[in-house]
Amino acid sequence: MTNHSQGSNAPVRIAVIGSGYVGLVAAACFAEIGHTVTCVDNDEAKIAALQGGLAPIHEDLLPDLLAHLSGTQLSFSSDLSTAIKEAEAIFIAVGTPSLDTGDADLSYVESVAAEIARSINGYKVIVEKSTVPVYTNEWVKRVLVRNGVHPENFDVVSNPEFLREGTAVSDFLHPDRIVVGADSQRAYELLARIYEPLTSGSYYAGRTSLPGKRSTGNPVPILHTSAKSAELIKHASNAFLALKISFINSVANVCEAVGADIAEVAEGIGRDSRIGPRFLSAGIGYGGSCFPKDLKAFCSVGSQVGVDLKLLHEVETINAKQLSRFLAKIRSTLWTLKGKKLAVLGLAFKGGTDDVRESPAMKIVEALLSGGSSVTAFDPAAMPNAAAIFGDRISLASDPYAAAERADALVILTDWKEFAELDLERLKHLLRYPIIIDGRNLYRPEEVTRHGFTYVSMGRAPASPATDIGQAAAHGSLQRN
Ligand code: NAD
Repeated sequence: MTNHSQGSNAPVRIAVIGSGYVGLVAAACFAEIGHTVTCVDNDEAKIAALQGGLAPIHEDLLPDLLAHLSGTQLSFSSDLSTAIKEAEAIFIAVGTPSLDTGDADLSYVESVAAEIARSINGYKVIVEKSTVPVYTNEWVKRVLVRNGVHPENFDVVSNPEFLREGTAVSDFLHPDRIVVGADSQRAYELLARIYEPLTSGSYYAGRTSLPGKRSTGNPVPILHTSAKSAELIKHASNAFLALKISFINSVANVCEAVGADIAEVAEGIGRDSRIGPRFLSAGIGYGGSCFPKDLKAFCSVGSQVGVDLKLLHEVETINAKQLSRFLAKIRSTLWTLKGKKLAVLGLAFKGGTDDVRESPAMKIVEALLSGGSSVTAFDPAAMPNAAAIFGDRISLASDPYAAAERADALVILTDWKEFAELDLERLKHLLRYPIIIDGRNLYRPEEVTRHGFTYVSMGRAPASPATDIGQAAAHGSLQRN
């Protein structure tokens, strides 16, 4: 699948520090476009798994890339010092979680910067791939200089990553844009060389290139900005996407109050080319390892520079309330939670990933357990990660149908594609009561009620079949199967 570039486009020796959702995908994709990459992590078990050919995360297309590239252009190591010495460009892709204050915890970035200072052996371009607040670039420089590195021996560049878990490989190789925040021309040129196969389109001409929305005739634009602008672009992008989600959820709540249908309203809004259809799906709100922490970090940056980003605080409040609204829907459908046996579909924060960090689904399950329900859950990829958190407090099923067996209702919490294609007749016979409470609006109400279900979703009126089975169930008067 590789596509070597020659001459001024000669492969670059790259070290990627941090082999998580971003670092591992970036490393594999840099190797895929022809560079020589060492992917480093201080988690020895993760590196051993990668060296043994195992992908430690669930990500579409990643296992194929690793199988093709490992041992040739891509290697794995826990020896940070050697990787730094051998690299021309060092991408920092470690975590930047939230502190209790809401600020980003930059201690992982700082410790990598200090390690780079100890091992540096010539000019290096240090690249912030992690999502970091504005001024981090300055701080990384300061750490290196304080540790005795001459400023001529390095540049620090901000190259934020916009990939989405679940479609990360495709997003990386076919991005909307590449942002390079470089205050030095020399550093910019190295980054431009790294991304050249994507920005010239030469990668897409290769017979074995992974297909996607980009092509030789439609290559990726590269934006050269200041380092500070690049840092802000990432925070502002995530803040805007979170805002779009909270906006549509607010509109969904109005739809519920007046008896309108959020699916129709969202389509009508999204057809406006100034707005666009994406991120207008009503549901139980955003989660994951990025939006919640990046919003907090951006608000913190705002308050540090005297700008009150009140709008974003409201986005957070709406998002938190969305969970309570959904729980209230479950209660009003089932009457009480205590003693109920619930089938839960989805634990990951979104479909296509095994990531349960800040997952709204996990929060809902926790609330259901606290309310006295028992939960049998199924998720195509996230069950091991969820089991590490819930232990034996929940049961895990082998598929959606096993989860549904003798359950009082089916609760959909993650937008996995396969959950939108369930055999509703089969489900109806497995459930105790034909009730689906869908936090992701995966079905059209008329489709579900046609099969005899009561269907409760977001931003739409609850729908019941003509016999009003769900109402009866809610009042405990239904004959059990
Ligand atoms: P992650 O937790 O999956 O991975 C981070 C990795 O860094 C871990 O494997 C950890 O062991 C390793 N690490 C920590 N300190 C280290 C050190 N000193 N030396 C070597 N390795 C070290 O995190 P992630 O989801 O990949 O996110 C990384 C960054 O990218 C974050 O700033 C995040 O906000 C940003 N980002 C994430 C996504 C996403 O979808 N996950 C998308 C865009 C940007």
